[in-house]
Amino acid sequence: MRRALFGAGLGLLAVVAAGCSIPSAVAPQIRGSVGLPHSGFLTDSKELPRKGKGYEWRRTQDHHYGLPRLVGMLEEASASVVVARPNSQPVIMGELSAKGGGALMPTHRSHRTGRDVDVLFYVTSLEGAPIPNPDFVKIGPDGVGVSAAGRFVRFDTARQWIFVKSLVETKQAHVQWIFISRVLEALLVEHAIALGEPSALVQKAQTVMQQPGDSLPHDDHIHVRIACEADEYARGCDGGGPQWGWLPKPAPRVAVPASELVATLVGP
Ligand SMILES: [Zn+2]
Repeated sequence: MRRALFGAGLGLLAVVAAGCSIPSAVAPQIRGSVGLPHSGFLTDSKELPRKGKGYEWRRTQDHHYGLPRLVGMLEEASASVVVARPNSQPVIMGELSAKGGGALMPTHRSHRTGRDVDVLFYVTSLEGAPIPNPDFVKIGPDGVGVSAAGRFVRFDTARQWIFVKSLVETKQAHVQWIFISRVLEALLVEHAIALGEPSALVQKAQTVMQQPGDSLPHDDHIHVRIACEADEYARGCDGGGPQWGWLPKPAPRVAVPASELVATLVGP
């Protein structure tokens, strides 16, 4: 894998060293999701439309670009909730990445390579009526939270599970992480088991749903990250781990002639 990344790494180095535009004529093979989620950039991105079936943006000033397959899987997951529960309210989409990726400081450490997105939780009123999430409401271990305006909301386990299930099962992309607090993950897993969902699905969902140890507990939104596809490693994509068993492995690297590597390093 290291060897597979070597050529791409040299190209990336050349792009940065030359201060070229991206993608660069110097290293045209470096494109798409390039680098690690917290230190890379993005080309050939697609913008998630402002609203679609079952979702809408949180704010116009946010960044809504990602790899096309990330956009596609978000549209698919949002629509799947509406199909299963027609009386749903739109899920609220937070930030993806900037059009060309890079830092979205100070709010996000990652979100730089078009593989990350924040999505607010599905919530209901205390009585169970679906309502749009008022805005990053922290949900406690009892599944209840209070909005900034003092409104009580309840974590909508059923709709959230439909959304998570779609992310895990989609054929469009491979989900690497769904960051979410431990207690909410437990609610979702318990719900999935009670529904009689296939154990392989539940296990996969349980594996990717994690409360991160090095950042916020994610008790007010989920953060979804998709994995690099096999052919993207040679173009500079760096998964950053973990490499779950079902995720694509880097494709065997096609040998790059030494003359091309030299040309990449010194420029035209
Ligand atoms: Zn995030």
